Amino acid sequence: MSEPLLRAVGVRKSFGHTEVLRGIDLDVHKGQVVCLLGPSGAGKSTFLRCVNHLETIDGGQVWVDGEPIGFQLRGGKLHELREREVARQRRDIGMVFQRFNLFAHRSVLDNVVEGPTRVRGVRQAEARASAMELLDRVGLAHRAGAFPAQLSGGQQQRVAIARALAMKPKLMLFDEPTSALDPELVGEVLEVMRDLAGEGMTMVVVTHEMSFASEAADEVVFMADGAVVETGPPSEVLVAPKHERTRQFLARVL
Ligand code: ADP
Ligand code: MG
Repeated sequence: MSEPLLRAVGVRKSFGHTEVLRGIDLDVHKGQVVCLLGPSGAGKSTFLRCVNHLETIDGGQVWVDGEPIGFQLRGGKLHELREREVARQRRDIGMVFQRFNLFAHRSVLDNVVEGPTRVRGVRQAEARASAMELLDRVGLAHRAGAFPAQLSGGQQQRVAIARALAMKPKLMLFDEPTSALDPELVGEVLEVMRDLAGEGMTMVVVTHEMSFASEAADEVVFMADGAVVETGPPSEVLVAPKHERTRQFLARVL
């Protein structure tokens, strides 16, 4: 198999004396969808934040598309990168959070145009044209002129996905993208994510939506207490988990 698009090896992270990631290994190949499951406090969000270097890691290493994140390989040694260069690496990694964090005083279209024009140096006309295409993909081209507050939570989250995609990321990270939504709005966001998966986007998704995990994931990773407990295709982990800890968790969420 080819080299993974995302490789995490032995990722460790502590806050003070509390070790919240105790050596996480994860490989995600191009086009794969990996769902991260686990109880609250397992370290799922912290792990995603370590992947794009929003948190510095205390041990181990993360590579995206062969590049060590936060570091540069020079003369056979890893040297820590400056913030500027980390920001450059981060542009290739799209992130969607539970809270959509759109710019409240900008239109939907301007929210999507902002990143490419300001950070990637794309020209306005070009950025607006591709933003409209992205809004069309998430079913919101007709709301391009609206402000975030005029949209439902599900629509705002779809805009947040379009905004992340506008940067043409190699990898998309989702941290419980539907947890803050009213139940009737969850489906429309998951549908956009399914389409994205179908188009071949590489995705790591923290979610409690078991139907999404079982249908869309190539691989499911169950985490607890800062460690990976078990991993495998959804047909194994969700249907016939090997570990008692996984069984207990599934019994509560299914
Ligand atoms: P999950 O996303 O699986 O619910 P988190 O990654 O948010 O878990 O948190 C894992 C553990 O790390 C929790 O015990 C949480 O309280 C702790 N934690 C997370 N962020 C911080 C922080 N910035 N400072 C101190 N502790 C933190
Ligand atoms: Mg979390």
